[in-house]
Amino acid sequence: MNNIAELKPLLLANTKPKIVITTHHKPDADALGSSLGLYNFLLQLNIKSQVITPTDYGDFLMWMPGEPTVINFEEEEELASQMVAEADFVFCLDFNALKRINSLGELVQASKAKKVMIDHHLQPENFDDYRLWTSKASSTCELIYWFIQTLQFEHLINKDIASCLYAGIMTDTASFKHGSTTPSTHRVAAELLEKGAESNIIHENIYDNYSENRTRFIGYCLNEKLQILKEYNTAIICVTADELNRYNIIVGDSEGLVNYGLSIKGIKFSVLVVDRTVARKMSFRAKGNFPANEFARKYFNGGGHFSAAGGESKDTIENVELKLKEGIIEYAEYLK
Ligand code: 5GP
Ligand code: MN
Repeated sequence: MNNIAELKPLLLANTKPKIVITTHHKPDADALGSSLGLYNFLLQLNIKSQVITPTDYGDFLMWMPGEPTVINFEEEEELASQMVAEADFVFCLDFNALKRINSLGELVQASKAKKVMIDHHLQPENFDDYRLWTSKASSTCELIYWFIQTLQFEHLINKDIASCLYAGIMTDTASFKHGSTTPSTHRVAAELLEKGAESNIIHENIYDNYSENRTRFIGYCLNEKLQILKEYNTAIICVTADELNRYNIIVGDSEGLVNYGLSIKGIKFSVLVVDRTVARKMSFRAKGNFPANEFARKYFNGGGHFSAAGGESKDTIENVELKLKEGIIEYAEYLK
């Protein structure tokens, strides 16, 4: 594995390297913020890179500077494939397993490009040539700041870069609330504010930008769908494809719903299952010593962080619910 600092002369070379930046499917603010933060930083070095997402993402992210240049692999497969094949570097941000970028993963693997992994999820795979990785970082956006700092280019951070990076730090820490929030996180956030990020506007763009339908959908789920397994201090919400249709739920709309379960006094484990038609997608959130990522891995081919994880299943939503409840009984010692 090469040292990430060795990228500096390669980025400053006279012949500009061809750079593709990619991130995990259904990108959130950390995924897209780190990608566009890096994109805007490379612009400062006169490098026009290309951000390619494996899928679409919510429109609450579309304010990010540089967002109109992003290519969605599902929509522009041919162009995206060609760019990956011809790239000198592919930056892989906010993921560390190629399956997280769907079929784009095979193209990245096959590309002659050097791969640079910048990520904070557990258990990284070995597909990269350069790596900036620690599961202790609050967010990939914080790591992009460290990357820029390692290259001694902090002076190049402008408002565009700062705004993208601030967004990812804010959302991955749930507004500086999670245990992953360190003194460094606050220092980086403070630097980004000094470089021009407007915290109130970024907060508003992301958190006050939901549709009326989405708000009513949340109300419906909390009122009608929330199951509390008292004995196991667990909250579950299972949403069917029909319910998603009824409320016109789009990408990103169910984001945050899983946190309501965990906000109930005494609840240690909260699960959201959403029937996305092609697959059933699970979100897991936990408190205390319940290993959400281990649970996700064991039952639902997933993974993630210790207290915030996810997974998916091709089984019916009814069977997923049954399997979930069996798993919870097996993990009772962590929950009682
Ligand atoms: P979310 O519930 O927000 O979709 O996901 C929370 C975290 O769980 C993500 O940051 C990611 O680390 C992890 N995660 C979500 N879905 C999957 C999955 O299908 N596989 C793996 N390995 N991790 C996932
Ligand atoms: Mn992240």
